[in-house]
Amino acid sequence: MKFTVVTLFPRMFEGAFGESIVGRARESGKVLIDFVNPRDFSKDRHRKVDDRPYGGGPGMIMMAEPLYQALKSIPGRRNGRWVVHLSPQGRGFDSRVSAEFARKKHVVLVCGHYEGIDERLRTEFDDEVSMGDFVLTGGEIPAMAVVDAVTRLLPGVLAEDALKAESFVPSSSGCRRLDHPHYTRPRAWRGMKVPGALLSGDHERIGAWRRRAAASATRRKRPDLLKEAS
Ligand code: SAM
Repeated sequence: MKFTVVTLFPRMFEGAFGESIVGRARESGKVLIDFVNPRDFSKDRHRKVDDRPYGGGPGMIMMAEPLYQALKSIPGRRNGRWVVHLSPQGRGFDSRVSAEFARKKHVVLVCGHYEGIDERLRTEFDDEVSMGDFVLTGGEIPAMAVVDAVTRLLPGVLAEDALKAESFVPSSSGCRRLDHPHYTRPRAWRGMKVPGALLSGDHERIGAWRRRAAASATRRKRPDLLKEAS
């Protein structure tokens, strides 16, 4: 699968996309990521991409034309890719949206900055996705989160078992639930012991403990997920 990130600040991605699981997935060709900078499409002598808002008010607005040209420059057919505007006003990004994106061939992530993007560019977007009810400086951190969450779902990036036992994966009853707690060595740490079932070597007992612990964590921390199922 391929991501194209449309951003004024491609250097922000160097660390996030060069290391760990996303870095390895890029190296092995399981995910392709490229960048398009709207500044490269500015006709202005100073490569200007923003201007003052009509009607007045604080901040600057990203102009439609450089962004439009940036989108037009992306190879591939228009209907073969999914163009996502990262915006605090979009639908909430969650495990279902990441699974949806992981089934697509090419996702284009458009990062706004300053006060946002000229509204007339809206017709170029297929989707509007938000990281939550808060306002960030730009769409770059949301784009990193989307690429990370989607890449780990792609075939061969993680062991299949790792994906089955995660938070928000529906259980056999169809209800999304949280992951069970995890422990590693030592067996006792500052007076706290690892639950006996996990040391038993009995796979059925371990499985039953984990299912119970996952259900209990969900009830305690995210009771809304249980309501969602009913
Ligand atoms: N004026 C906009 C508003 O209040 O809705 C906020 C603009 S914000 C300062 C600049 C850019 O950051 C946005 O265009 C968007 O790309 C990105 N952004 C900020 N918060 C976001 C969020 N919660 N989810 C996704 N993108 C966000």
